[in-house]
Amino acid sequence: MTHAFDLSGRVALVTGANTGLGQAIAIALAEAGADIAAVGRTQPADTFAAVRRAGRRGEWIEANLDNATGLDRIVAGAVDHFGAIDLLVNNAGTIRRNDALDFSEEDWDAVMGVNLKSAFFLSQAAARWWVARQRGGKIINIASMLSFQGGVRVASYTASKSGLLGITRLLANEWAARGINVNAIAPGYFATNNTQALRADETRNAAILARIPAGRWGVPSDLGGAAVFLASPASDYVHGAVLPVDGGWLAR
Ligand code: NAP
Repeated sequence: MTHAFDLSGRVALVTGANTGLGQAIAIALAEAGADIAAVGRTQPADTFAAVRRAGRRGEWIEANLDNATGLDRIVAGAVDHFGAIDLLVNNAGTIRRNDALDFSEEDWDAVMGVNLKSAFFLSQAAARWWVARQRGGKIINIASMLSFQGGVRVASYTASKSGLLGITRLLANEWAARGINVNAIAPGYFATNNTQALRADETRNAAILARIPAGRWGVPSDLGGAAVFLASPASDYVHGAVLPVDGGWLAR
């Protein structure tokens, strides 16, 4: 069965792979055999050091993902480096916090642009590349507990992550028959830059911890197995699914 999780010879495009969850996912995919095209604003030096330790190649494709401009160039760039792409992980994300009464259009657009718009159009660019060559591929969207729940003070984040789960299902419906798997991982509460403000707030931190059956925040490496599964042949018949990796949060 181990070969079912083998990614040798695959090329994974991972957005936001310089830090946090994207970094852990890129490293897990490399350890399973994939080369990594890391897409983002910041040179992913630490990630590539780990990718090299796993015996794989990493290439940086510099891009700001705050809108849909130039996303074809990202796919073309990865293909220039590696000759093909096989996997896309839409991980880059951002968050803005404010009361709904005061929430600004700028904070709405900034989050929707990165978390939803660029994820959709990068998926489209990858799928166009695969469909034109009559080959399959796999897309993993990084959703959230706020794909299921409302949250507070994070209107655009909740809208974007609920939308991301919606388009995961839509794209699975449209592309499953073309051999393209589109699925999502819904991380629970993980210790990264994204949640620094929450962890620093003693009251919120205690409330969150008390609700997690596993009794701890997730660490980025907790996501590796789920990412390798959804990237590998083991998930060939899995379409439009969302895999929570949440220490039991949603079961509570
Ligand atoms: P993080 O440490 O803040 O990392 C976010 C990543 O997104 C960074 O690589 C960042 O690049 C990139 N990014 C943000 N805006 C970008 C832009 N305009 N263009 C290109 N890249 C951009 O957060 P994280 O926790 O690892 O989050 C990764 C994903 O998991 C996000 O989609 C987040 O919503 C999701 N998530 C996180 C949690 C959690 O508990 N941490 C839970 C559920 C879902 P820079 O370093 O250049 O800013």
